Amino acid sequence: MPIPGSGLAKGLAVTLRTMTKRSHTAQYPEVQPELPPRSRGVIGLFEENCTVCMLCARECPDWCIYIDSHKETVPASTPGGRERSRNVLDRFAIDFSLCMYCGICIEVCPFDALFWSPEFEYAETDIHELTHERDKLREWMWTVPAPPALDPAAEEPKEIAAARKAVEKAEAAAAAAAAAEAAARAAETEPPTEPPTEPTPEGDA
Ligand code: SF4
Ligand code: SF4
Repeated sequence: MPIPGSGLAKGLAVTLRTMTKRSHTAQYPEVQPELPPRSRGVIGLFEENCTVCMLCARECPDWCIYIDSHKETVPASTPGGRERSRNVLDRFAIDFSLCMYCGICIEVCPFDALFWSPEFEYAETDIHELTHERDKLREWMWTVPAPPALDPAAEEPKEIAAARKAVEKAEAAAAAAAAAEAAARAAETEPPTEPPTEPTPEGDA
């Protein structure tokens, strides 16, 4: 049988223990929180990478990505070549009043056009203002943190290795061309060597 008043004593003990501990309250907004770099605050759109494939809009469980586009014909780049058609983005918007920050759109984008930004201060008094159009989504891009450094022991990414090899090849070709040019210039400026004089036979004089 519990001792009468023991519950009260326990409660007071918890209160005393808590009172002596350091408070973790952050004085937001005077003090900004230190968020982890991969926090899911808002989504940024890097428009140049978007091919209007619609994958993000189709996979979004909330159907809160709105994309409009039209097709444009690109003339053939070579004589006799075929014209090509490409999608041109007219509208890209995300309704953050519906978004549940699952990150599926960012995961499925095959062209690295969507990124998480840790920015979270975009509360609005009008819910319509929470639909961010492409210009606003682009602005968020400038708040996306740089990707973390690669593990030093990791294998070099294929595209970086290919780019490095191309640069090395171009540098080697430029160095060889410069060396050949220098050799040709040296040959031009060198005085012509005189032909050796034939020895006169003795007694001719
Ligand atoms: S984070 Fe999820 S809910 Fe939000 S736009 Fe992307 S897919 Fe849709
Ligand atoms: S998945 Fe990526 S490339 Fe495709 S429409 Fe969405 S943002 Fe654009």
